[in-house]
Formats: sequence, C-alpha cells, structure tokens
Amino acid sequence: MSADELLTPQEQQSKTPVQSAVRSLRELIDHYSAKSFAKGLDALGDEGLAERVPFPFLAIVGQAEMKLALLLGLVNPNIGGILLIGPRGTGKTTAVRSLLDLLPTVDRSTCFYGCLPEDIETGGIESVCPECAQKYGEGKPLTISDRVRLVELPLNARLEDVVGGIDERAAANNRTSIRRGILAQADRNLLYIDEINLLGNEIVDAILDAAAQGIYTVRRGPVSATYRARLVLIGSMNPEEGNLRPQILDRFGLRVIVKGLENAAERLEAYRRVQSHLANPRGVAQTYASDSQAALQEIQSARQRLKQAFIPDALATEAIRLVQDMRIDSLRAELTWFESARAYASSDARHEVQREDLRAVAPMSLRLRRSEFMEHYFDNQQNEEEELRDKLNRWGRKKPTAVKKKKER
Ligand SMILES: [Zn+2]
Repeated sequence: MSADELLTPQEQQSKTPVQSAVRSLRELIDHYSAKSFAKGLDALGDEGLAERVPFPFLAIVGQAEMKLALLLGLVNPNIGGILLIGPRGTGKTTAVRSLLDLLPTVDRSTCFYGCLPEDIETGGIESVCPECAQKYGEGKPLTISDRVRLVELPLNARLEDVVGGIDERAAANNRTSIRRGILAQADRNLLYIDEINLLGNEIVDAILDAAAQGIYTVRRGPVSATYRARLVLIGSMNPEEGNLRPQILDRFGLRVIVKGLENAAERLEAYRRVQSHLANPRGVAQTYASDSQAALQEIQSARQRLKQAFIPDALATEAIRLVQDMRIDSLRAELTWFESARAYASSDARHEVQREDLRAVAPMSLRLRRSEFMEHYFDNQQNEEEELRDKLNRWGRKKPTAVKKKKER
C-alpha cells in the first residue's frame, strides 16, 4: 500500500505539487538541510531593515535530532515536552523561534472559562458554564480555529506571573479576583523556557505540574481559580551553567543533546545562511515561504493521522523489554517513546508504527532516564549513549552466535 492510499480524500486533495514531490515531512526537512542555498540568497541584496523576522526552520543546517524533536512536539502534544541540552551558540533558541512558520491550528475555546465541546462529551452539559451550555444547545460552536502560539517565559518571571496572582486593579476596588498567569496563556500553545536550569525550583515545579495535568488551580486567600494548561513545554539549558535536578529531567519527554556542527562544510553553509538572514531577513523568509507552507500542511495532516496511529502489541511488548533491559524504571520512558513513535509514523503518512519508527526516536526518549545515573548524568551520558545505540542496533536483528567472555580469577 502506498503512503497516499492511507490519506483521506480531503487530505489527498489538499496535497500540493510540492508535497507530492516529497514523500514525507522528514524528507522535506532533510532535503533542505543538505541543499546549498547561500549563493542564491546573496543575490537578494541588503534591505537594511532591522525588523525581527525569524530564521526559517527549513534553513537550519544539520541538527537533525533537535529539528525532529521539535516537529514531533508539533505533531503530538502528548510527548511530554522537549528539553534541549547544549552549550551556548548551538542554535537552540533560534530553532525554537523558527517554529513560528510551522505552527498548526487548533480549536480554541471562545469562553473565559475555556469550555470545550469535548467537556460535554465526557462530563455532560453540567461540565461547561451556563452560557456555553446554552450555545451548545442551540448548536452554536464553542470554539474558533486559531494558530498555536509560541509563548516565551521571561527570564525574570516570578511565581505569580507564571500561575497568576491577585488582580491589583480589582483589589483597589475592594474586589478580589485572580489575574491569569503565563501558564493559562500557554494553554494549547508552546511554552518556551530558555535556561530552565537557572529558574527557581518553585516556578519549575509549578510549570511541570500544570503541564503534566493539563490543568491547575491557583488559591489566593478566599478566592481560587482553575485554568487549563495543555501545553507543549520546550526547555533549553546549558549544562555548563548548572545542572537540572534529576527529578525535573525525568519529567521531560524528549531530551536532545545539541552539539555544534562538526562538519566544516556544514558550518560554512550555516554561516552563509545566517549572514544572508542578517542582511535580508525578509528575502530569506520569502525563499523558504512556499516550502514552509507545505511543511505546515504536512504537520497538520500528521496531526489528523495521529488519531489512528497505533503500535502493534507484539512490537510494544518487545520495546518495553528493551526499556527494562536498559534498566530504566521510569514509566515515562515508554510513554514518551510510544507517543513520539506514533507521531513519527504519522509524519511519514502511515498509521502503523514499525520497528524503524521506534528506533529513530528511541535515543531522545530513553537517554538520561536511569535512576542510577541521575546523580552524575553528564559524566555518564557518553557511556549510556553508546550502550543505547548498541542495544538499538541489535534490537530486533538476528542474534550473532553468542560469544561469552569468561572472567576467571
Ligand atoms: Zn463557557
């Protein structure tokens, strides 16, 4: 069966010529990563404008794992967040901001309380506010279609900025009410926290709890308010500037070790693209515009397909054995691994997860998870990485004749 046969008729119709030429989202990304653009871009000239146009995602050279992790987060918000670990200047923040052109649309509640039709489907008409209940009864929509936004947590954010605090203007009028915090604004959006290892524990805990539960409650004296916070958390950290508490590390779904580009030709290409973007950001954005649009449509289709994506039981069982074999206790390991594999298969226009999908997303789902390693995780990261790659290479392949080393003393 070809990939096209898995698409619904609407999806097939919406495929543009560009998309048909490229088999999957992943191929589109790889194609651009390798292509040399800089010479053509130089001819665009210098516009001398200082406005902030984000660097296009497709223009990022190399960094395949970081790009893949970010895309999987757009396709499946249930992967449990993404942590980018690497030194300064490796393009972590640039990559996150470059997602702007690829943000899909979601159904967003039009009501202050965030009522959704799915609340009624699961909890009955009582589970929404009276106004929405009436609208629902009249067959009117409770949501509008809106693009996912990228919300950045300011570096100096205080706890009350994050969860919300007393509305001072209302307090001045002798009323007590709670002002929405950054978390509530991040509902159904991406929340980016740069330098997450430098943020106060209290704030990190509040964000991780809310992100895990998708909902949180603020209590301030006699008043309380409950908000939705179904968000994709993206954190970045520079390990040279301080470790992240192990229990926090475990709560991120995907962890990407971001290194500088090692290949000289790639570095040169990256330099040229950045220079072109500095000189003429609009021109560069224009060069990538139609293919960014195609990638966005692919993400949107992948999100649709995700509902049907599944892992056959036998394969899932084998995968869990590998997690056990890696001596990983955290149940978040397979949860993230399976959710990202489903997203990966969906991005490749398939519904059934195959072993290769699991293999592709295993390192970012499984690394830095073992409790015994948590204390000195950066020292041990290299060893763990090698062991993981080795086990993945052998996983599901025919075992060579076993050679047992005998140690006798
Ligand atoms: Zn409502």
